[in-house]
Amino acid sequence: MSSDISVFDIFKIGIGPSSSHTVGPMKAALRFVNALVKKGLDLDSVGAVEIDLFSSLAWTGKGHGIERALVLGLSGEAPESVDNLRAQNIFDLARQQGRLHLLGKRKISFDLNRHIHFLRQQSLPLHPNGMSFRAYGPGELLIFQQNYYSIGGGFVVDDGGGAKIGERATGPLSFSSGQELLELCIREKIKISALMACKEEAWLSRAEVQQGLGKIWQTMQECVKNGLAETGVLPGATQLSRRAPETYKKLLAIKEKRGAYFVPDPLEVLDWVNLYALAVNEENASGGRVVTAPTNGAAGIIPAVLLYYRRFCAGATDQGILDFLLTAGAVGILYKKNASISGAEVGCQGEVGVACSMAAAGLTEVLGGSIWQVENAAEIAMEHNLGLTCDPVGGLVQIPCIERNAMGAIKAINASRLALMGDGHHQVSLDKVIKTMRDTGLDMQSKYKETSTGGLAVNVTEC
Ligand code: SF4
Repeated sequence: MSSDISVFDIFKIGIGPSSSHTVGPMKAALRFVNALVKKGLDLDSVGAVEIDLFSSLAWTGKGHGIERALVLGLSGEAPESVDNLRAQNIFDLARQQGRLHLLGKRKISFDLNRHIHFLRQQSLPLHPNGMSFRAYGPGELLIFQQNYYSIGGGFVVDDGGGAKIGERATGPLSFSSGQELLELCIREKIKISALMACKEEAWLSRAEVQQGLGKIWQTMQECVKNGLAETGVLPGATQLSRRAPETYKKLLAIKEKRGAYFVPDPLEVLDWVNLYALAVNEENASGGRVVTAPTNGAAGIIPAVLLYYRRFCAGATDQGILDFLLTAGAVGILYKKNASISGAEVGCQGEVGVACSMAAAGLTEVLGGSIWQVENAAEIAMEHNLGLTCDPVGGLVQIPCIERNAMGAIKAINASRLALMGDGHHQVSLDKVIKTMRDTGLDMQSKYKETSTGGLAVNVTEC
């Protein structure tokens, strides 16, 4: 049976700082203990668990909070529901006392240094983000072993599921290319957002789709709000200060001072878009609650462009927000099916580049663009992100990631404006640019693919 991807696979509520190095490993750890129980093995017979982390996960996992993620997953916590305070307590127990409770039930010794192995020079066959979990019973006997791969955006597959990109049955509205998407819209005489809404109804009721999208939007707004309120430095050796709260104060002061007497700066809207993106990505960097969109590293672009739409575009509506998400989700599905949304596989073009492309499409749809203009906007946004490398300083999702989201959001708005000024005709199709992104990613040296062994990561000294 072939499989499909839902908009709710592209947008997921989780925790920072990384979808592939935090959310994915946490889900894999939880899946491992659940599989162990499902296999009929008694949790009480488990004496120890060991985890090998390979390649990119080994290079940058520590900076991306992978140890905390693994401890939480083994303890039975899921990214979408874990409470921050509980998470901190669970991790402190492991870090300070070397203990955890498997699935919240079975107490075992778990020493971060002894039971998690970082194997930088080794890889598993299917993806650079490989993990191997082992459970030992009495007499240190190996009782269960399983490999998992965190393939970007929080998606996790095991050895048997390498080729399976989704877990939902395909239907008459499924599409695998931009061309197919456009043909379906022409055939059904509907816009991309309407097609996506009908497609989702194969799996969920209409009310569930609306509620699910509403929850995504609400979580995005809460994330911005939290990012504007939190002050201080972000976790990690770089000791990077949060900028969103100060920037917010400055923008409010400018607004107040301006009052009715001065002509507003026409570019002031850019400052607000920048602000929203900074707020989300600073929350993400601190391990806060974010919406993976389509990854955590690139989580700020879509909320920033959505807030631009809601606050600065004439005629913006709440339904427009949902249509934006559905359209952006359609474009995310195309990248997931035909290229990658993993920085470890194709560099940052697969994260910030894809989020930018999705946001440009969503904005163009809700500003009244035709299906061809939407496809054009998505293409323009990726075309000018091709070759973007992933080289996070100190292995942290901070530099260049936080600012890069601000740049990506502005670029998405400009791509949409360029497309809306045209009539939808263009030389380079979205399918061609997606293929080019994938090929460019395959050609990229591994030092530019979330290993922190090239680029800014080696030229910028940590404090
Ligand atoms: S550089 Fe881009 S791909 Fe790499 S961690 Fe940062 S946001 Fe993710």
